[in-house]
Amino acid sequence: MSRPLWALTAHELADALRQGQVRPREAVEAVLERWQSTNTLLHAYLGVNAEAVRARAERLASQAPQGKLFGVPVAIKDNICVRAEETTCASRILRGFRPPYHATVVERLEAEGAIILGRLNMDEFAFGSSTESSAHGVTRNPWDATRIPGGSSGGSAAAVAADSAFAALGSDTGGSIRQPAAMCGVVGLKPTYGRVSRYGLIAFASSLDQIGPLAKDVTDAALLLEVIAGYDPRDSTSAEVPVPPYRERLTQGLQGLRIGIPRECFVDGLDPEVRRAVEEAIKVLRQLGAACEPTSLPHAEYAVATYYILATAEASSNLARFDGVQYGWRNAAPRGSLLEMYQRTRAEGFGAEAKRRIMLGTYVLSHGYYDAYYARALKVRTLIKQDFDRAFERFDCLVTPTAPTPAFRFGEKLEDPLSMYLSDIYTISVNLAGIPGISVPCGFSKTGLPIGLQVLAAPFQEERLLRAAYAYEQATAWHTRQPEVAETTPSR
Ligand code: GLN
Repeated sequence: MSRPLWALTAHELADALRQGQVRPREAVEAVLERWQSTNTLLHAYLGVNAEAVRARAERLASQAPQGKLFGVPVAIKDNICVRAEETTCASRILRGFRPPYHATVVERLEAEGAIILGRLNMDEFAFGSSTESSAHGVTRNPWDATRIPGGSSGGSAAAVAADSAFAALGSDTGGSIRQPAAMCGVVGLKPTYGRVSRYGLIAFASSLDQIGPLAKDVTDAALLLEVIAGYDPRDSTSAEVPVPPYRERLTQGLQGLRIGIPRECFVDGLDPEVRRAVEEAIKVLRQLGAACEPTSLPHAEYAVATYYILATAEASSNLARFDGVQYGWRNAAPRGSLLEMYQRTRAEGFGAEAKRRIMLGTYVLSHGYYDAYYARALKVRTLIKQDFDRAFERFDCLVTPTAPTPAFRFGEKLEDPLSMYLSDIYTISVNLAGIPGISVPCGFSKTGLPIGLQVLAAPFQEERLLRAAYAYEQATAWHTRQPEVAETTPSR
């Protein structure tokens, strides 16, 4: 093979391992080397347990190849529990927390032979769109190290883009898989709410959170989804809906597919280069046989406001459990009451964005404001969901930009939380409605920054969006472009 091993996609590597052309240990060494040479610059990983990774590769090498991901190293966002590995949600307050169990998705990856590679950086508790709120420092965008990788799964997207992971898991509450995927030029899929078990995902907003793959191409995304999806008795919100063989169904083409283009997504605030790239992509979809027509999501304009009420309300109650007693880190001052210990631990443990969200969430749930904010937001959420229901009566898929702009520079939006929140304007309504969405690369800005196309479908129709995304990917070459990441030799 002329390409280095780390440059293979997950499915190419899985095929090579199955056929015995590559051994698990070789795959592991290749990706560990790539991680070492890129992580000083990018900081996509918070930690890699190289010893455990090598040990697992050795164990697999003594077995006959078995499972869809046999020997394939996969990296995990830091809010998904991996037994005995420090899992911090990129927060100081969870320093030293080692989960006693695997998340269901991790169990499923291992059951199919995958090798769990390491912990990926993220915004603290997944609050953010830039990975700048991580307590462990920022992750850099492999296409331009002066820019953010997107967020909150910025580490996942950067690692996949830089080939320091064959694939990764992220989580998406308002766009956190799709937006960084778009900004790093990789594929990111948020499944239908309930498609993938959340057992072992440290909760941000329980009615919105979903785990999903970040991958080098659409085939890899389909392969990973196939492995992690399905009912789990340990997550009461996971759905008992059969999991189709997504990978086999990719090649059905676009002939006869009806695609809606929501008008509301092409208004002020959309970067002209992003607009142009998405319009070109729609032309390609037409040429491939899809019938593309305008449609409308009339309540889309309320999505960001609605989300920041519901998501903060849920976050404020989910974060109440981090008080220095059960998990992670505790303020060590020897004196004072229990209440003071809580206060000191939380004051020191949470970063500024986490505190902002706890305060906002507590406020909208408080007596006197509950009806005005929380209860109203729930009603608007229903209206947003109904917009999608109506659109999917006429269309198989909807297509929008994933994010309004390409990756921005560090610090650009830190002083203005509202402008940061607006970078999820196209992804947030998808979580409110619980439907699936995928982002695929659809072009580059003049300065060489990736742009993403978002494809949406009705609940449990991941098959359709994968099919559309695959047909588009096959007709274009965007996904084959690689960033040139300056390698550095780490000091050992
Ligand atoms: N950027 C959004 C937020 O800050 C979405 C984050 C996410 O999906 N986890 O809430």
